[in-house]
Amino acid sequence: MEKNEFKKFWKLGKKEFNTHHFDINNDGELIIREGNYQYNVYDLARKFDASIKIYLPFIVEERLSNLINVFNKNMKQIGYRGKYIYHFPMKVNQNKEFVLPLVAEGAHLEVTSANELWVVKKMWEGENFHSKIRVLCNGPKSAQYLKLIQHLHDNNLTITPVIETLDEADLLKDFKGEVGIRLNMEVKVNSHWDKKIDRFGLLPDEILDLGKIRNLKILHYHLGSQIIEDGGMIAALKEAFKTYIALRRLNPSLDTIDIGGGFAVPYQKKKLYGVEPVVKRIIKTLYDLSKKHGVPHPNIITEWGQYIVAPSQLTVFKVIGSKNIVKGVAKKWYLIDGSFMNDLLDTWAIHQKWHVIPVNHLNYKKKERVWIGGLTCDSDDKYADADGYVTLPRLEDLQAGEDMYIAVLDTGAYQDGFAMHHCLLSSPAKIVLQNGLVTVARKRESPEEIGKLFGW
Ligand SMILES: *Cc1c(COP(=O)(O)O)cnc(C)c1O
Repeated sequence: MEKNEFKKFWKLGKKEFNTHHFDINNDGELIIREGNYQYNVYDLARKFDASIKIYLPFIVEERLSNLINVFNKNMKQIGYRGKYIYHFPMKVNQNKEFVLPLVAEGAHLEVTSANELWVVKKMWEGENFHSKIRVLCNGPKSAQYLKLIQHLHDNNLTITPVIETLDEADLLKDFKGEVGIRLNMEVKVNSHWDKKIDRFGLLPDEILDLGKIRNLKILHYHLGSQIIEDGGMIAALKEAFKTYIALRRLNPSLDTIDIGGGFAVPYQKKKLYGVEPVVKRIIKTLYDLSKKHGVPHPNIITEWGQYIVAPSQLTVFKVIGSKNIVKGVAKKWYLIDGSFMNDLLDTWAIHQKWHVIPVNHLNYKKKERVWIGGLTCDSDDKYADADGYVTLPRLEDLQAGEDMYIAVLDTGAYQDGFAMHHCLLSSPAKIVLQNGLVTVARKRESPEEIGKLFGW
């Protein structure tokens, strides 16, 4: 087989799958390209003794600047006069090395808890922000959370609490800054949100019954994560616009629609909708509806989280052993020095499927159907693709003294916040690749550090 055929087999080098930075070198090893720089993942895995997480900040920068350009370009093309504003939902990845480059690239922020807002306070006081940054506050407003919102407002941060309950409408009625309100719609879309009854936000009638809401600026909704069909996004936008129009009659200061998160990532390397056609449809829908109802074009906020950050990280595990499977669609267990359950919790929580590829021997013809087992003693600590197995090179084809490493792609969203310490395992080290330089953002946790978390 030609190198290009291997590349095709492992679905590398494809923009629609977010693998265009990945390639295979002549020795069959995984490499990552950043402009003229090149990184060898196999060398990194050996040097830093995988398991490791490899974070690529240039990818989040590229994705965000592309998204902002796509909105601005298409708004200009049809004469849309509202603005586009991107808010990064911090719950998707709160790590400093993710948040700071996003803010530098023009992201505003969205937080869901008092502790996330505490991080914002730290950045605000440390002057890590430009003074025009905007912060949206979702999630239940505890007394501590409200106090911090007020404090940051008093310190001149543009902070907008989003009202999610009737109690919050009351608690925020004397707030001097702008506020938003969250709409809970009947429209449901096919997404990672299987709850029939939503506990977030207020029904259209509840919102309209509030009448005049002081300094109301934003109507917000969030449909769920990983929305599978883009048509659902447009249907929801049309539905939300009905409330927007009615609410604007009572509150002329309302000028922004925040459509929340949910833009999907092709984790399984099957083609999904592209960003440009969806953005075009959003703008066109709002353009037409505004014209029909004789209102100015609203500003548009999106909080697409995993779309921006998931493809910017991969997790690399070393295969440390194998076992035969007597009865099953796979023939072998590959046991890794790491844990799906701890390090990629969504495999366990929502049966997330990822793209798993070898880091070395990407050019081996003979392959094995395997299940991957983690290092905890838990029977749930395992992984197989949607087909019921993972295809990987055979261990018996390795040379003496050689190890096999595997990479799980697109692990930059949610998994760090979810990480656990089942069986007191350490989280992997985190390596950052940028401008040709390799830096260690987080070392692998020592037994002392883990012990401390448990009072030892
Ligand atoms: C979780 C969440 C997001 C991000 O969702 P993604 O699926 O990562 O895009 C955005 N907004 C709100 C309110 C959320 O709760």
